[in-house]
Amino acid sequence: MRDAEFFRRWMTAAAAVVEREADRLTELDSPIGDADHGSNLLRGFTAVRAALGAEPPGTPGAVLVLAGRTLISTVGGASGPLYGTLLRRTGKELGEAAEVSDEELRKALYAGVGAVAQLGGAAPGDKTMLDALVAGVAALSTSYRASADAAENGARATVPMLARKGRASYLGERSIGHQDPGATSAALLLGALADVAD
Ligand code: ADP
Ligand code: MG
Ligand code: MG
Repeated sequence: MRDAEFFRRWMTAAAAVVEREADRLTELDSPIGDADHGSNLLRGFTAVRAALGAEPPGTPGAVLVLAGRTLISTVGGASGPLYGTLLRRTGKELGEAAEVSDEELRKALYAGVGAVAQLGGAAPGDKTMLDALVAGVAALSTSYRASADAAENGARATVPMLARKGRASYLGERSIGHQDPGATSAALLLGALADVAD
């Protein structure tokens, strides 16, 4: 079973990996975006870490709802509302239980990814974070590490895709040949989950 402390550790690990990889995420956002994805997420997850540290919520659901709300209020780019929705919806699905099972978390994340698809109107193949998230969540039934690996493969698979959503879609054919920054960061978030879960 996973308690609130586990979810705080996940968010802290996510903040750390975003800090380490911020420059790379911004570089990926340079040819097909506006070169701010790393700085957007760095601002967001730094605020998440501070919010969770100031008043640590007592349940898994409350940790994720607070993290999601913080991302929405601190990140101006598209990724703020999208990741914010992912975490908030996942947290709401977990309810008020003090501990949740891995199966409950898997189902909640599945719903969270569905909420991202609904908010952004994107589907796998559109060259967005969903290419990593959908692949990652599908592999959760195997293991957290398998999920992280599938998400990373999903991110790499965005390279030959033509972007159909977000800023990169303005480039049309010129979006081909670049890895999507949001798919890359989504794989990092699931990698952080695997790191704390094992
Ligand atoms: P912005 O594009 O506003 O500068 P970011 O650079 O932080 O925001 O985030 C860009 C990422 O957001 C993209 O790489 C893509 O993965 C994701 N994204 C953009 N629009 C959508 C959408 N409609 N659905 C899903 N993901 C999206
Ligand atoms: Mg951007
Ligand atoms: Mg931007």
